[in-house]
Amino acid sequence: MTAAALARVLGPRLSITLIESSEIGIVGVGEATIPAIGQFNKLLKIDEDDFLRQTQGTFKLGIEFVDWYEKGHAYMHAFGPVGRDLAYIPFHHYWFKDQATAGSLWDYSFNWLAAKQARFTRLDRIPDTPLAGLTWAFHFDASMYAAYLSRLARKMGVRRIDAKIAGALQTAEGDVRALKLEDGRELAADFFIDCSGFRGLLIEQTLKTGYEDWSHWLFCDRALAVPTARTSPLLPYTRSTALETGWQWRIPLQHRTGNGHVYCSAQTSDERARELLLANLDAEPLADPRMIKFTTGRRKQLWNRNVVCMGLASGFIEPLESTAIHLIQVTIQRLILLFPHHRDYEARRLQFNRSAAAEYEYIRDFIILHYYANTRVGEPFWDACRNMSIPDSLAHKLELFRETAGIFCASEDLFQLSSWLQVMWGQGVRPRATHPFVEAIAPQDRAGYLRDLRKLFAQAAQTLPGQAEFIAQHCAAPQSGTS
Ligand SMILES: Cc1cc2nc3c(=O)[nH]c(=O)nc-3n(C[C@H](O)[C@H](O)[C@H](O)COP(=O)(O)OP(=O)(O)OC[C@H]3O[C@@H](n4cnc5c(N)ncnc54)[C@H](O)[C@@H]3O)c2cc1C
Repeated sequence: MTAAALARVLGPRLSITLIESSEIGIVGVGEATIPAIGQFNKLLKIDEDDFLRQTQGTFKLGIEFVDWYEKGHAYMHAFGPVGRDLAYIPFHHYWFKDQATAGSLWDYSFNWLAAKQARFTRLDRIPDTPLAGLTWAFHFDASMYAAYLSRLARKMGVRRIDAKIAGALQTAEGDVRALKLEDGRELAADFFIDCSGFRGLLIEQTLKTGYEDWSHWLFCDRALAVPTARTSPLLPYTRSTALETGWQWRIPLQHRTGNGHVYCSAQTSDERARELLLANLDAEPLADPRMIKFTTGRRKQLWNRNVVCMGLASGFIEPLESTAIHLIQVTIQRLILLFPHHRDYEARRLQFNRSAAAEYEYIRDFIILHYYANTRVGEPFWDACRNMSIPDSLAHKLELFRETAGIFCASEDLFQLSSWLQVMWGQGVRPRATHPFVEAIAPQDRAGYLRDLRKLFAQAAQTLPGQAEFIAQHCAAPQSGTS
């Protein structure tokens, strides 16, 4: 992603070398994304249908959370807006006031309606209305996406070397001067981007930058991943099911389904985690489960000396809201904005690190919310989650919502009002009051507004084609079973 984006934006001015080791390989488990990835693909001038064909990709309209609030309960964090705001007051205040007669919050999410009926089409707007159409991200095979971008980067002039890096050589001041390859070659450069995964070859092993550990808030530290055979219907959403000491993901691709169990090794055994994962699959496993260990947190500085780290080298937040690939995307964007085109870059470095820290912390809070607001009383893992002390920033968000259903987001925040609203509501957080201005509209007019919206969304959803049909028509991968 980094090599391709830098080549696209700064290509002719830079000489970029990508070093990767086919012997080591990639982690290869990031399969679900959020809608902003569309902008990244656009920057690279990627044709969406071609990309989906090459990566066995499918569309993603949201994430369903099963058993998170309590066993037997499900809700969705659907992308896109919920309802339509009126006179400066966000929609949910009107809905909240008339809740008894206004149906479910999700009756006003067009994405949810389409997702639950396994429907999809590219629709910016519901025809003949001012209402937004569908908002989508993708599920794809991460290894195929990496290969796809690698081909693209090479076409744009990136030099690729398949070799193992044995170590780094530093200047007297401590900057990285060159990489030493296992075959003895030395590669010197002005600036290095460490995309070496959890090992953090330059940022940690060489520069000893340090890591901020968040496992006192996010207890899970292992994942077991396993692919299964493709099932029907092809659901256009990720499913996350809460289990005894963590949760299980289900990501439908064209040719198979990706599954994984994220769990807390201090509270369960690997054997029990494996057993639960296999018991919760809805099709035959295609391989043995593969274990990945991690420590939730972030690198203390994402830019240290002449090294920027990216991806797993920069930190890790579990994939509950599919944010890791997005973090790579925004880090690239930030690097492009603050690019060190001359050596005097200290102010840019500080700004880069400040923004990166804020971004990571914002996502961290959103993930903690899912764990903290649960009512799975009597289960030690979930009791511990509910009883932990949370970051002040999240405590404030929760109190604001409880006070008068207030949700405030800055325009650059990754998760906006409808995301916080759905997760807070879905996790059982309830406001004590609604905004008083909703009463400026007469009760019968409010009820009529809500009824009309519900009807428009429901009717429009029924006209959409099924996702499998849409993919077969536009972007079926060869041998995906979709065409
Ligand atoms: C369990 C799990 C589930 C995930 N699910 C999602 C998800 O649903 N959505 C999402 O957005 N993200 C997800 N992620 C995160 C996502 O997988 C990563 O962010 C993404 O794959 C990027 O990884 P990376 O390139 O940083 O590291 P890696 O994939 O580990 O790549 C590291 C690269 O460095 C090279 N390298 C390392 N050491 C050397 C060396 N000595 N010499 C030469 N080359 C070297 C390797 O060859 C490789 O190419 C998940 C992660 C995990 C662990």
